[in-house]
Amino acid sequence: MSEGGTPQRGGAVSASRRLALRRLCAVGRTSPTALVVEPAEGDPPVGGGAVGDRRARAQADALVRGLLRRLGVVDAFLARDNLFRFNDTPDPIKWVLRLAAYEWMYQAGAPDYAIGQQAVELGRLAGGAGAARFINAMMRRLIPRLPRGPAALAADRYLAQMPETARLSVPPEVLREFREAYGAAEGEAVLAALAERPAPVWLRANLLKSTPEEVVEALRGEGVEAAADEGLPWALRWLGGEKLPWETDAFARGLFTIQDLGAMTATLATGAQTGERVLDACAAPGGKTGQLWEMIGGQGRLVALEVDAERRAVLAATLARLYGAGCGIEVVEFNEVAHFAVQPQYNQCFDLVVVDAPCQGLGLLRRHPEIRWDGRLGRREPVLALQRGLLAAAARCVRPGGRLVWITCSPTQAENEAMLGEFRRGHEGWVLEDPLVGLPPSCRGRIQVSGEGVARTRPDRADMDGFAWGCLRAPDRQYFE
Ligand code: SAM
Repeated sequence: MSEGGTPQRGGAVSASRRLALRRLCAVGRTSPTALVVEPAEGDPPVGGGAVGDRRARAQADALVRGLLRRLGVVDAFLARDNLFRFNDTPDPIKWVLRLAAYEWMYQAGAPDYAIGQQAVELGRLAGGAGAARFINAMMRRLIPRLPRGPAALAADRYLAQMPETARLSVPPEVLREFREAYGAAEGEAVLAALAERPAPVWLRANLLKSTPEEVVEALRGEGVEAAADEGLPWALRWLGGEKLPWETDAFARGLFTIQDLGAMTATLATGAQTGERVLDACAAPGGKTGQLWEMIGGQGRLVALEVDAERRAVLAATLARLYGAGCGIEVVEFNEVAHFAVQPQYNQCFDLVVVDAPCQGLGLLRRHPEIRWDGRLGRREPVLALQRGLLAAAARCVRPGGRLVWITCSPTQAENEAMLGEFRRGHEGWVLEDPLVGLPPSCRGRIQVSGEGVARTRPDRADMDGFAWGCLRAPDRQYFE
């Protein structure tokens, strides 16, 4: 920032901030999975070749995700004493100021002058000289009022006084859902955990090819560190190193795959047994399919259904990398009418049917933080309708006396207790079973079970996403119209 009214030319804007700004301006207009920050045509070169490019993207990604996880706090500080009027400010300028405020409050290591100067130059890029002057003036008013660095922020009285929705950085309806699902205090603790840290990378050792210890050794040989989780020993946390896990030879050889700890826990809870006949009804990208295959010992039958052709191709490639092209897992196009209702070979013939349902994804708030801000709860009816249909259709495939496990990465009551309750009211004889039965005692302390038999992972107790599941047992005799 210059001392006078006219901002001075601060040199080039860093590639990471430029990439971050473009991504932030698209929040709410693209799907959460599009959060990955990629350079676009016309961007000036980053410098440093592929390594510089990768570093810039990683930094941009961290900025975007970090800011979106803390947006409530950042906005509350920016709006304090009406210093900044959101409604009167165009989007790119708003995001430039938010980004600078986020860096100021949460990134103690970024030099003070660079944050101000880069904000001004980013504003110039986004809106010309007028925008640069505006941002310069705003920064000069705002900066003295913002706590500098996480320690000062934690001690700031305003943080403690702000409404929970701002402190936890979620809209009111998301806070309500978490309180309903986990209980008031627990729901807030879960949301706080999902705002505090970046999501970790978890690896799952492929137990048909290797052991967790061998995977750790193989990775160490490639300059990559990983450590076993104490609750689930075949879950390995990536600790860093010379390469990303999926760039290693060990990954290419199928010694492990990438899967969140919460997803691994939910899959283990299905209790799939060696030699069982299993249907994975919503399979891609295949994290749970692979784990189910390992749980049944690579024997028995595993049918993996997926509706989306592109995702089905990813699923098939993942399974081939892990278990070999002819491993025996049947990857099949999901077609509700053909596969669930009409084709007799799927009717009542699986010991276990797993439905990892398309859902609102509220348990992924940390991994995909823009889910917080895209208003999905206001549009949830079509998701619930799809889930109802899938559950009823999948139930037809369970053999008499077999099991159906319903999994979501959205721990809301509507998608879990209410969904299973409605199903059971319409399907006589189905009972809910203990959802912890397949899990070792070492990881049960991280799960919360509701009065209606739905289990939920507790991201505040272990570093994982929020998953929920319920286990249903079919009656010994079933009648379907
Ligand atoms: N089980 C997967 C795993 O662990 O890697 C993740 C499954 S994801 C939560 C839900 C899947 O359901 C997606 O792959 C999606 O394509 C699929 N899906 C979406 N709409 C569907 C529909 N109408 N019918 C069936 N499957 C659908």
